[in-house]
Amino acid sequence: MSTIAFLGLGHMGGPMAANLVQAGHTVRGFDPVPAAQEAAASAGVGMESAAADAVAGADIVITMLPNGALVLELYAEILPAAGPGTLFIDSSTIDVADARNAHDQAVAAGHAMIDAPVSGGVVGAEAGTLAFMVGGDEATFERAKPVLEDMGRKIVHCGAPGNGQAAKLCNNMILAISMDAVSEAFVLGEALGLSHQALYDVASNASGQCWALTTNCPVPGPVPGSPANRDYEAGFAVGLMAKDLGLAANALREHGVAGELGLRMAERYAEMRDAGRAANDFSDIINDIRDKSRK
Ligand code: NAD
Repeated sequence: MSTIAFLGLGHMGGPMAANLVQAGHTVRGFDPVPAAQEAAASAGVGMESAAADAVAGADIVITMLPNGALVLELYAEILPAAGPGTLFIDSSTIDVADARNAHDQAVAAGHAMIDAPVSGGVVGAEAGTLAFMVGGDEATFERAKPVLEDMGRKIVHCGAPGNGQAAKLCNNMILAISMDAVSEAFVLGEALGLSHQALYDVASNASGQCWALTTNCPVPGPVPGSPANRDYEAGFAVGLMAKDLGLAANALREHGVAGELGLRMAERYAEMRDAGRAANDFSDIINDIRDKSRK
C-alpha cells in the first residue's frame, strides 16, 4: 500500500480519493474549497492545509484539477516539496501541450510522471469503474497501473507523454460529431414524417450505428436509459463537452489539421454553454438544431 497525496477533491477527485482509501492506501488531500475538504475528510482522506504538506513524504501524487494552467501552477509549488523519484499522475483533462510541459517539469525535478485523463464521469468515479487513457513511458505506466486499477476498470497505455490527453480529446471530438450527426438525422426524419422508432430501428442495425445513437440516443423512447428520457439531465454535460472540444480545437489549430467538423462542434457547444444549457446533457444539441430549424 502507498502513501498518496490527492490534490483537487471536487466532483471527480473526491470519489476517486475515497476509492483509494477503500483500497487500503494512506491518502492525504488538499483542496481550497471547504465543502470538498469536509466531504473528503469524511471519506477517510487526511486533509492538509497546503498542497506542499500533502505531497511531502508521499510515494504518489495525483492531481484532478479544472484546467492546465492550474496544474502547471500547482506543479511549480509541489515538485520541489516531493521526495526524489515521486510518481506524479495528472488525471485532469488539459491541453496536450500543457500535459507535455508538466511531464518535462516533473522529470527535470527528478520525478516520474504520466498523464491519465479519464472517462466515465462522476458515476464512474464513485463506482471505481473509470477508463484511464495514459501517456508516459512504459516503466512509469507499469508503476502507476495498480493504483489506477483501484479507481478504474479499463487502463489503456496510449504511448508517450501527452498521448493520454490526445486520446481523450480525439475520442470526445468523435463523440460530439457523431451526436450532432445523429441529432440532425432525427430532426430531418421528423421533417420528412419518419418516426423516431423507425429511424432508430433502421440506423441501429445499419451503417449509422454508433454510441451516440444506441446508448445516448438524443430522442426519448428507443433507448429508455438515455438522458433524453429525463429531460436531458446529464449524463455528460454540455459545459464539459465545450471544454473538451475547446482543447481539441486548440490542438487542431496548433497542428494545422483541417478538422472542419471538430472546429465547428467546438463553436456549437460553446454557444450552447453560453446560452444557459451548460448543465444539460450534450445530446441536448438536438433541441438546438430544432430551435434553429425553419418551423
Ligand atoms: P471540480 O471543479 O468539481 O473539481 C476540481 C477541484 O479542484 C475543485 O474542488 C477545486 O477547488 C480544486 N482545486 C482548484 N485549484 C486547486 C489547487 N491549487 N489545489 C488543490 N485543489 C484545487 O471538477 P471535476 O468535475 O471534479 O473535474 C476535474 C477534472 O476532471 C477536469 O479537468 C474535468 O474536465 C475532468 N473530467 C470531469 C468529468 C466529470 O464528469 N465531472 C469527467 C471526465 C473528466
